[in-house]
Amino acid sequence: MKRRKIGIMGGTFNPIHYGHLMLGETAYEQFGLDQVLIMPAKNPYYKNISSNIKEENRVAMIQLAIEDNPHFCFSDVELKRSGNTYTVDTLDELTKAYPDVDFYFILGADSLYHIESWKDPAKILALAKIVAASRADSYSAIDAQIEYLNDKYDAQVLRLNSPNLEISSSYLRKQIELGRSCRYLLPDAVLHYIKEHKLYEKR
Ligand code: ATP
Ligand code: MG
Repeated sequence: MKRRKIGIMGGTFNPIHYGHLMLGETAYEQFGLDQVLIMPAKNPYYKNISSNIKEENRVAMIQLAIEDNPHFCFSDVELKRSGNTYTVDTLDELTKAYPDVDFYFILGADSLYHIESWKDPAKILALAKIVAASRADSYSAIDAQIEYLNDKYDAQVLRLNSPNLEISSSYLRKQIELGRSCRYLLPDAVLHYIKEHKLYEKR
């Protein structure tokens, strides 16, 4: 039987934006994935999620952003787990539950440079292929990091051929706080939701 290929996009998605969506879609196409899971993190130990944003807000924004794209599927695997969420635990759980699936963990280059500081990087790299996209980085720098990881861990880190979209959630949060337009940087439906619920506004 043909092995299925499932992409995983982890993140805080606070809020989800076109950088995330473009990344998932490009990975879907370039690697012939069957599906891309959009998997929000519960409580990243390295990041404090802004206090006025509830988990349900992040989930609702993801659902609005992906509802028109059958390539994407919302996943609550990390939200359901208690305590800190570690990528290695997620991959351990998924590879055990779905032994017939090859997992492609999709991330931006900023995450690729930090991956060795994550819990059990060797195991992460053994359990999944990694798909890395540039943000504002040069391709040669990313390729050097990919080669380094592949050599050191006998890993399969692959580079995504995607355009650089310099959008980040932190930039969007700041823009909204300043009352500036974020149109064309994230889906309209998400922007409407943010306005309706007065998220990220100055308090
Ligand atoms: P924040 O500014 O709050 O850190 P973010 O925009 O970086 O938010 P995250 O939820 O932290 O979004 O990112 C989830 C994943 O998506 C990470 O692997 C990150 O590198 C990647 N990513 C986010 N935005 C982009 C982008 N514009 N281009 C490429 N990768 C991106
Ligand atoms: Mg980030």
